[in-house]
Amino acid sequence: MLEQLALLGTEGEPLAPSGPIWSADGADPAAPDLADLRGQPYLRYALEVAAAGGHSVLIVGPPGAGKSLAARRLPSIMPPLSRSEAMEVLRIASVCGRSPGPDTPTRPFRAPHHTISTAGLVGGGSPPRPGEVTLSHRGVLFLDELGEFSREALEALRQPLEEGRVTIVRARHAIELPCRFMLVAASNPCPCGRGEESGECDCQPASTRRYRAKLSGALADRIDIAISVERPSAEDMGAAPTSDSASVRDRVIAARQRQERRLGAGRCNADMNLAELRSSCGMDEKAAAMLANGHARLRLSGRGHDRVLRLSRTIADLEGCERVSSDHVARALTLRRRGPD
Ligand SMILES: [Zn+2]
Repeated sequence: MLEQLALLGTEGEPLAPSGPIWSADGADPAAPDLADLRGQPYLRYALEVAAAGGHSVLIVGPPGAGKSLAARRLPSIMPPLSRSEAMEVLRIASVCGRSPGPDTPTRPFRAPHHTISTAGLVGGGSPPRPGEVTLSHRGVLFLDELGEFSREALEALRQPLEEGRVTIVRARHAIELPCRFMLVAASNPCPCGRGEESGECDCQPASTRRYRAKLSGALADRIDIAISVERPSAEDMGAAPTSDSASVRDRVIAARQRQERRLGAGRCNADMNLAELRSSCGMDEKAAAMLANGHARLRLSGRGHDRVLRLSRTIADLEGCERVSSDHVARALTLRRRGPD
């Protein structure tokens, strides 16, 4: 099984002429829609930016804030799979013995429980099997209660996240499997889940510090967006839905097209190297000052600074702007509110 998958590579293959007929826009009519997420404009915006630039996300908030509900709707606002991506998804499903369902494959969404083993997450074991990172190839990997996953499992996610492929070592040789996925991680704000801000939290400050330190451990430097959310108010819950997945997805597709024109086919802002990032922003003095100010105020590390710049580029792409403005930087800074740095 693994040999078959290893042949897949990360770029996929052209669709065979006898392949299935795909629907016109690749949308999954049965997928949960973003319209179900009432209130939470900040969380919705974070998801839109994440989908537009391929950025990984950490959402910190109490139970009932809509973290899981939001994460499950992320595939519905991502661009439809290209034909070669669809073939990759189908082949992974078929060699794993899973039925891909209807004729049109959609972006996978995987949400493994925090008790999962390292081999279950990244692949391996005996006999060796692809892990969740490969099953979520071209889709979303959702890790709820990030702090409850073993440190070893989280550490093992680093290579897959960085390289879009994972190496599984067998007795005599290593096999490479594709795993280009978007990571969405979620966490309660503290061990009891209510959070200090609620006034109802009875956690010891030291245990809350330890809990938060774990979040900023292994994966911190791979997560571009890190936000805190609260439970929506009763008023928010009763409000009419603001926009559905289809309208958000149209903006995301337009932003991705701008990125592909700049970076090449199949690439997005999350993949940019530092040289590409610095040469793509074209910031004026006001934007540079806003970034320097945010850098000092939020005490950002060098990496944190680059992540804000990367997010600014995506926000500018969502608005169809060639250059990154101070307004784009200001909004990017709000998406780093729960940063480890
Ligand atoms: Zn607490």
